[in-house]
Amino acid sequence: MKFDVIIIGGGASGLMCALTAGRRGRSVLVLDHADRVCKKVLASGGGRCNCTNLRMSHAHYISSNPDFCRSALAGYSPADFLRLMDEYSIRWHEEDEGRVFCTDGSAKIANMLLEECRAARVKINVNTQIIKAKKKENFIVVTKRGTMESSSLVIAAGGLSYKDLGASAYGFNLAEDFGHKITTLRPGLVPLIWSKDDLAAYGDLSGVTIRCSIRHAKRKFTGNILFTHKGLSGPAALQASLYWQDGDKLTIDLLPEMDIPEMLMSNRHRKVMLQNLLSSHLPSSFCEAWTKTNGFSRQLNACSEKELCRIAELLKNWTVEPHGTEGYRKAEVTLGGVDTADISSKTMESKIINGLYITGEVMDVTGQLGGYNLHWAWASGRAAGENV
Ligand SMILES: Cc1cc2nc3c(=O)[nH]c(=O)nc-3n(C[C@H](O)[C@H](O)[C@H](O)COP(=O)(O)OP(=O)(O)OC[C@H]3O[C@@H](n4cnc5c(N)ncnc54)[C@H](O)[C@@H]3O)c2cc1C
Repeated sequence: MKFDVIIIGGGASGLMCALTAGRRGRSVLVLDHADRVCKKVLASGGGRCNCTNLRMSHAHYISSNPDFCRSALAGYSPADFLRLMDEYSIRWHEEDEGRVFCTDGSAKIANMLLEECRAARVKINVNTQIIKAKKKENFIVVTKRGTMESSSLVIAAGGLSYKDLGASAYGFNLAEDFGHKITTLRPGLVPLIWSKDDLAAYGDLSGVTIRCSIRHAKRKFTGNILFTHKGLSGPAALQASLYWQDGDKLTIDLLPEMDIPEMLMSNRHRKVMLQNLLSSHLPSSFCEAWTKTNGFSRQLNACSEKELCRIAELLKNWTVEPHGTEGYRKAEVTLGGVDTADISSKTMESKIINGLYITGEVMDVTGQLGGYNLHWAWASGRAAGENV
């Protein structure tokens, strides 16, 4: 069977590419090995789909070429996506830092994409294992359900995280077969694992959250951290995981909005235990573990001025050195991917193989937490869909 466009992967970017190309009158076939398309869209934002962000900027993306995403983002803005949602009367709301969520759940977004594909006469084959894809005059895609041919081929097979949602290494391998370089891959937006000592000190605090600021080198993320039985998760820790590498330290300001020296000095004559004083501002189980680990389980009036300065310093700069991350099993995204040096930033077409396009997470473009990854999928899928 011959199509204008074959898209490998029916996730966020693949379906956006498909519906855009289909609307232009191109005959489009989407192939997916999973039993249904859009699994990550459905799981996104804990089922609430943080689908875009009103503070869109290339500065929220990580890539070997930080400017690569500019053109596609300019071509498809958050307002464009919200307009599409409005056409389907899908309700949305903004939460902190410009994050847009689908008020009635992620299934609304998945259904909208599928309905748009249906209207654009896109053919979608799920449960389709691809055996081989190569280019002769046209692209030939051999699957267990037959051989298909197309003049354009789109690799939209996503990243490595959450295998049970359809993830595979296929997109990276296929791009490599076509001559593309793959930058170093690693899990991102992923919970961090305690060092042995910190696990002993804080491993029992699972479920505790603290609003704080985490610093990694020159970056700072303010938000909640969540203690797990293995380490740290929560929005601020997940953001930090995008930059953290083995051996790096993270510095946590436990009370970012407070003048800590002033608070300690004004209480220094009191017989109150330090952990009890801190419990007015931080979870008491954490205060107990933290003061014990740092050797400050004592009354404030028993602390010297030097010690109070040290305590203040530690509360502002609690340094942790994670042992690792929970890996692709728990990561929201894959950092790294197909090197953007060989992809057109305007069309997503390969500079190596004419007619080959690459979209979404399989590329070396990763967004911060907050709807940036789905928006990259929409924007890159749209750019390719207009050109295939
Ligand atoms: C749990 C979770 C929650 C998330 N929440 C958010 C969020 O709220 N906001 C946000 O912006 N981002 C979120 N993300 C990230 C976001 O979902 C992805 O970045 C985005 O879906 C990437 O789009 P994509 O089209 O590149 O890949 P995907 O959406 O992953 O689609 C890839 C498709 O390719 C298919 N595929 C893979 N291998 C093959 C193969 N060999 N043959 C055929 N098909 C194949 C897969 O089955 C899948 O359908 C979340 C991710 C996870 C895992």
